[in-house]
Amino acid sequence: MARYIGALCRICRREGEKLFLKGDRCYTEKCAVERRKYPAGQHGQGYRKLSDYGFQLREKQKVRKMYGLLEKQFRRYFYEAERKKGITGEVLLQLIESRLDTVVFRMGFAPNRRRARQFISHGHILINGKKVNLPSYSVKGGDLVEVKESSRNIPEVIDSLSKVEHRGMPSWVEVDSINLRGKVLNIPSREEIQLPVKEQLIVELYSK
Ligand code: SF4
Repeated sequence: MARYIGALCRICRREGEKLFLKGDRCYTEKCAVERRKYPAGQHGQGYRKLSDYGFQLREKQKVRKMYGLLEKQFRRYFYEAERKKGITGEVLLQLIESRLDTVVFRMGFAPNRRRARQFISHGHILINGKKVNLPSYSVKGGDLVEVKESSRNIPEVIDSLSKVEHRGMPSWVEVDSINLRGKVLNIPSREEIQLPVKEQLIVELYSK
């Protein structure tokens, strides 16, 4: 399945929750979920009662859409999480939260994950001084993530950083907003990943 390129707010309305896919607009009263809390489309004036399977599926779709992952990629993260030590649901969230596109977004260098992915694939981001153009690159504690010197005047980067207080900076990164660089202090624990997600439902879904 190809990557979704349709209207982003439609996804949030489908899930009935703000997934913060756009950036600044998500923090204003213009947010589509604030204005119309029902699924888009002519049959969308309410949410259907869900079965247990339905709840599990919606939870998985919510996380997958929030991080902009394809089903195949998401499933691969799940299998990797299963193989690692620890609680599978928590490890799964840690793995996807450690993706470079999410880290660039969390550090405030991009207004949303979609733009973060573009910045990375266009070669604007360095890790420990080396160009990395893979949005799925997995960062580690101690990694230094920075915007390449020649890209530091991109207006969208500067604008995004100036508005980062909307989203709040997570405790597991430290950012020098003057020099446009940030340090990953540690791989986030479940408590540090502030997502309204019941990851256990995802584990139950894939364990069937
Ligand atoms: Fe979702 Fe943001 Fe659109 Fe609101 S504005 S519906 S949070 S993408």
